[in-house]
Amino acid sequence: MQQHIPFMNAAIDEARKAEALLEVPIGAVVVWNDTIIGRGHNLRETTKDPLAHAELIAIKQASEYLEAWRLLDCRLYVTLEPCPMCAGAIVQARIPQVIYGTTDPKAGCAGTLMNLLQEERFNHRVEVISGVLQEECSSMLTQFFRRLRGKA
Ligand SMILES: [Zn+2]
Repeated sequence: MQQHIPFMNAAIDEARKAEALLEVPIGAVVVWNDTIIGRGHNLRETTKDPLAHAELIAIKQASEYLEAWRLLDCRLYVTLEPCPMCAGAIVQARIPQVIYGTTDPKAGCAGTLMNLLQEERFNHRVEVISGVLQEECSSMLTQFFRRLRGKA
């Protein structure tokens, strides 16, 4: 568990960048050989792009770095449980391990609503670790939405 803390902190740093842009604070990093090779934060509002999720941005960067669509020997850290789109991308990229901070009761597809990362019928299954720095990841989101409601 301890080895995951610095990388989840890097994902939290990414989420803070999203928050500074008034985006929902979600961040992700892709790690290869203990080096961060992809970083991403939610940019859905800024880019007006429904695909601009933290995980997809980090995966794209990591693929460019490795010059490969298969992210073998990589780990993806994300502050919030992946949605169906990102879980699909994680399977497509053949990422062996995903570590996430807090569950998403509205869209989580890494075990909460569905488990696309460990679906027997797919040709790839992902090892999932949840709850790393859960408090931090979760309170960032609740505080963001609380502020948003305060303004409205
Ligand atoms: Zn997503």
